Amino acid sequence: MKIAVLPGDGIGPEIVAQAVKVLEALRGDGLKIEMEYAHLGGAGYDAAGDPFPPATEKLALAADAVLLGAVGGYQYDTLPRPMRPEQGLLRIRKGLGLFANLRPALVYPELVHASSLKPELVSGLDIMILRELTGDIYFGQPRGIRTMDNGERQGFDTMLYSESEIRRVAHVGFQIALKRAGKNGQGKLCSVDKANVLDTSMFWREIVTEVAKEYPAVALSHMYVDNAAMQLVRAPKQFDVILTGNIFGDILSDEASMLTGSIGMLPSASLDAHNKGLYEPCHGSAPDIAGKDIANPLATILSVAMMMRYTFARVDIAQRIETAVRKTLQQGLRTADIAEAGMQKIGCAAMGDAVVKALS
Ligand code: NAD
Repeated sequence: MKIAVLPGDGIGPEIVAQAVKVLEALRGDGLKIEMEYAHLGGAGYDAAGDPFPPATEKLALAADAVLLGAVGGYQYDTLPRPMRPEQGLLRIRKGLGLFANLRPALVYPELVHASSLKPELVSGLDIMILRELTGDIYFGQPRGIRTMDNGERQGFDTMLYSESEIRRVAHVGFQIALKRAGKNGQGKLCSVDKANVLDTSMFWREIVTEVAKEYPAVALSHMYVDNAAMQLVRAPKQFDVILTGNIFGDILSDEASMLTGSIGMLPSASLDAHNKGLYEPCHGSAPDIAGKDIANPLATILSVAMMMRYTFARVDIAQRIETAVRKTLQQGLRTADIAEAGMQKIGCAAMGDAVVKALS
């Protein structure tokens, strides 16, 4: 298992260090794991003047999987756009062809009360958001700021999806729905778009409906994105797999993350066509708490579980890590973001140690 480790910025190095402890413990048990480090984001800019330095690209291309912390920081906010840390992230996703972004939103029984919704709405919640990651308005050309004939300035971007881009992510969505069907009793996929207004979305809906014919065991439904945003907070348990484009997925997955109580609990996987993947927590670099040893490392540790499941097809190890995380929660161990009033809080490193202990 060749893993490129990119700690990134802010809390990135702290949370990645905990995930590396877990990988080292697994290596101690006989797994053949190789880890090599490189810079991404602001760390890349500081080290090499580029948020996605060539050395990082080389390492990431040669690895089976990439483990990333997070990128971004206030000190980089004034840099020109190509030098910004977030550009490093967009470029590594595009460069590795990571078009399928999987974001589970799962509520742990121990954390039901950390959700901002009523416990009965979120208890037992287990949904998977599949966001297309390398197309849409984030990458469409042309884009820019132009001056019109009348002298007024105008900002513009292009929303764009080609048929093959929709088709390949739709297949991933239906396959995930099929795999989850065993667990939940029925394959269910809800495709989210804005087909009442956008031509790109009308096309998206047409292609997803076509692909659905190859998956008769999965019930396909369509929903407009504004309604989906509402339904996620009204009755989130109606969903199983949500398939959507890049920009809608960006927003809906953050919304879904809060249903679970803390963004510090949510892992993600971004996959290419051959299960090579980049694994990272859903949250950002949290510069407000960086260096204080209070960040929650569980999303990053759970990202390693996703890596074992999707890239290395080791469901047994994925489950072992997930069980260890559950055990630590059952023991009442909490970082500040998920602690209820009166509960004892532990730091980032102590949480990493606790998960490693619970692995055995
Ligand atoms: P953020 O996710 O970094 O932080 C939002 C809030 O959640 C903050 O209060 C933070 O302290 C808290 N938080 C986040 N992760 C946490 C954790 N593991 N444990 C405890 N609390 C946690 O989002 P933001 O503040 O909007 O952005 C900060 C920086 O991160 C920006 O530069 C942004 O561009 C970048 N960002 C990067 C990624 C990524 O690397 N994938 C994603 C989102 C934002």
